[in-house]
Amino acid sequence: MDPNIAPHVYLRSNGLLYWCPVDQPLPVVTTFDSINPATGTVVGTHPVTTAAEVSDTVARARVAAAWWGAQGWTGRRSWLRAWRKRIARGADELAEVIRSETGKPHGDGVLEIALSVDHLAWAAKHAEAVLGLRQTPSGLLGLNLRALLEYQPLGVVGVIGPWNYPVFTPMGSLGYALAAGNAVVFKPSEYTPGVGRWLEQAWRAAVPDGANVLQVVTGRGDTGDALCRSGVDKIAFTGSTATAKQVMTACAQNLVPVLIECGGKDAMIVDRDADVAAAADAALWGSMSNAGQTCVGIERVYVHEAVYQPFVAELRARADRLRFGPDDRASYGPVTMPSQIDVIERHIADARRLGGRTLLGGASVGGYVEPTILVDVPEASAAVQDETFGPTVVVTAVATMEDAVRLTNASRYGLGGAVFTGDARAGVQLARRMRSGMTSVNSVIGFATVPSLPFGGVGDSGFGRIHGADGLKEFTRAKAITRQRFALPVPVLSFSRPRRLTDWLAKGLRVWHR
Ligand code: NDP
Repeated sequence: MDPNIAPHVYLRSNGLLYWCPVDQPLPVVTTFDSINPATGTVVGTHPVTTAAEVSDTVARARVAAAWWGAQGWTGRRSWLRAWRKRIARGADELAEVIRSETGKPHGDGVLEIALSVDHLAWAAKHAEAVLGLRQTPSGLLGLNLRALLEYQPLGVVGVIGPWNYPVFTPMGSLGYALAAGNAVVFKPSEYTPGVGRWLEQAWRAAVPDGANVLQVVTGRGDTGDALCRSGVDKIAFTGSTATAKQVMTACAQNLVPVLIECGGKDAMIVDRDADVAAAADAALWGSMSNAGQTCVGIERVYVHEAVYQPFVAELRARADRLRFGPDDRASYGPVTMPSQIDVIERHIADARRLGGRTLLGGASVGGYVEPTILVDVPEASAAVQDETFGPTVVVTAVATMEDAVRLTNASRYGLGGAVFTGDARAGVQLARRMRSGMTSVNSVIGFATVPSLPFGGVGDSGFGRIHGADGLKEFTRAKAITRQRFALPVPVLSFSRPRRLTDWLAKGLRVWHR
């Protein structure tokens, strides 16, 4: 080592590289850059929110939650409508922010925003019916009681989001938590802070009196960790299983409940009587749209051996026509998170090492990965077992649908999935047997477009649900109330209960529960 050069580290901030001797106190890096993965250019610089600032933000949110609660169902519905309108009107601009931070084509961004707005509308419209105060049957022993139930907001919800669908994915928590009456502190991924900021600004413009009901904190994992420890009333986390475990550990310190939405290794099953062209088209889009960076993307296809060859030929022909690139006409864009390319390459290499064949693609080109079809891949391969999160798909022939279901369910993940069959009713029965939170019959990812359907996984894909009535309830606590309508002639819940009442009860029990 050159003795004239002191030991040093490089720090990156504001797009500049700083040289710092390690024997001097390190400067506090207060900002980080958002990079366009297609061009490598800096598209934004954002503050790294410190733990103290996160706590302040949560404290402000707590005050705002009281204001939000006082708006009532009608008030909240109209504020959420105002926010929705802003998002809808600004869809083109927001899609450009998404594109600049993720590299995905503009049209994909618009589709994501359209779905998000639809979910927001559903949550706002149905919140009162799903959560509001209602009477429930009080039963024979509670005959003299009026039974009331409502779902009350938790207070302040922390939402930690990923980068792959930076509007649609967090909106499943943001929209439903807000509609349920909570204030929200949102920590977007460090890859998509600009998208989070855009949503926050749209909120402030739409709801100026309640600006702090939705706040964004930007930063890296440390900021997310600080949010978990900040005293929020729940964390809704979407991201990888590995990070989910860290989030749960941090939340455990204060018994903060968590909603965990993680990745998947979703399978499509294709039966012998399926429309092969439709199945191939769906498998292709399900596996390769958004460069395969879709939590409910299709990563495995189990095809009945009777239609395996025509299916593979059709899939290959269609995949051959895909084109990746930075432009709007491209089928898909770059891999957003550069380190993911290593994972994708490792899975392809592992499939080949174990005897699998690459029918198409298999290489990365700059920040992009070719459309890749793998066949003859043993089930033990990482390409079958682990989430690849790239434009790749493994296709395997099976002798029966029993085999297809067995192999589908032999995964530690269980998020979504699809069935293609000529008999849609039989398809529903197959769908019911798939160990996952959601399954589409004769389409892919259809369940995500239906706001009334819950969305979430089992196993390593997480637990809890966003979307639908379950998604609203996820951000509430049930409150049960009984109101006595009249006093019973003989007291039951009292030390003065007469002895004979116990005898009647014992006899009654035997009659009622024969
Ligand atoms: P990560 O797990 O890397 O990150 C998710 C979020 O957690 C980011 O905001 C990240 O911040 C933050 N974070 C990182 N470390 C911590 C920590 N210690 N404490 C708290 N927060 C932390 O996931 P990705 O962003 O890479 O997202 C991709 C994953 O998300 C895939 O596995 C995908 O399948 C899954 N996913 C699941 C969905 C579902 O609904 N089930 C939907 C979409 C994606 P930062 O980025 O700043 O490091």
